[in-house]
Amino acid sequence: MSSPPRVPALDLRAQYATIRDEVRAAVDRVFENQAFILGEEVESLERELATFCEVRFAVTCGSGSDALLLALMALDIGPGDEVICPAFTFFATAGAVSRLGARPVFVDIDPATYNLDPAATRAAAARCTRLRAILPVHLYGRAADQDALLALAEEHRVPLVEDAAQAIGARDASGRRIGGRGRVACFSFYPTKNLGGAGEGGFLSTDDADLAERLRRLRVHGSSRRYVHEELGMNSRLDALQAAVLRVKLRHLDAWNAARCRHAAAYDEAFARAGGRPSTVPLTAGGLPLRTPAPVAAPAAHVYHQYVIRVPAERRDPLRDHLASRGVGSDVYYPLGLHLQQCFASLGHREGDLPETDRAAREVVALPIYAELSDAQREHAVASVLDFVAR
Ligand SMILES: *Cc1c(COP(=O)(O)O)cnc(C)c1O
Repeated sequence: MSSPPRVPALDLRAQYATIRDEVRAAVDRVFENQAFILGEEVESLERELATFCEVRFAVTCGSGSDALLLALMALDIGPGDEVICPAFTFFATAGAVSRLGARPVFVDIDPATYNLDPAATRAAAARCTRLRAILPVHLYGRAADQDALLALAEEHRVPLVEDAAQAIGARDASGRRIGGRGRVACFSFYPTKNLGGAGEGGFLSTDDADLAERLRRLRVHGSSRRYVHEELGMNSRLDALQAAVLRVKLRHLDAWNAARCRHAAAYDEAFARAGGRPSTVPLTAGGLPLRTPAPVAAPAAHVYHQYVIRVPAERRDPLRDHLASRGVGSDVYYPLGLHLQQCFASLGHREGDLPETDRAAREVVALPIYAELSDAQREHAVASVLDFVAR
């Protein structure tokens, strides 16, 4: 009998094997040019990203975290200001807000989509006295409820700043690519993202020419001409090696995202056949205690940065141990809401303030999903989940 396949949570070496020659040629080109910071390679990438995201401008920078910081700086958000964001996200979303002296106003998620709950967002906005921005995250590669959040932002005359670090290529309910509907959207090239570099990197997208110009200035110490500093900025530039690698990978991104979607559909189908239900049905509804991502209907498009299921809290970590024993990687995004992180203790949150965030933090498990995943690997992952959950 052949041994079951190993199924790592992510396999970047398998991805590299498919693009090795292209990447090496691109890297050689940069070394021959010896122009390493910003420059032509970066400008070409920015044009290609703008086209991909269906926006007028893309401005690269040093990381996704910096993109968030730059976006808020460019909107003059500072001490005492309030910014609504989810707590069920990577730290950088709220870290950027606090780093500028502003206050993250944490809002609970819709348990079906893991994104900002529009009704809770509306209620929180009504309680704010210095609301300056609404900052949704398109978590796991699924667009937040853009129509509701944009309408709310407009009512409060504040910009929508999107954390799109996990959602490059996704489409919202209007069919538009993530990146062009809010005032500005922030993306990450962290190596594990759907478009990952060979190191740190990020970019911002916007249709606003003045904002794009200000972002370009802020990323080089507030300077638009050498040694003339109009304002205080930071040093957050993308390097040409990253740009060259990313240009290669951007050409494959649509195909890679499509492959992620095929795997997600196959996971959905296999779990549904076994009695799993979509996350629109709460776990408490009974039946097989397994929930799959809520379906997304065209023209919206999910890019499955993560494929996340839910199981009862007390079975989550045992499930992960079982998967590990069968060679199947898994991960938890995120085990603790930001409202309960020590560094935000001064905001005075307690467990239970954001019940859906707390529950998701205890119940979610991300399964392997990437273009190079084989059907046999995925089937082994499904079988390994089911022989634990269904017993
Ligand atoms: C990855 C990520 C970031 C930060 O990006 P870095 O490039 O790692 O700084 C911000 N927000 C979310 C939701 C992310 O997933």
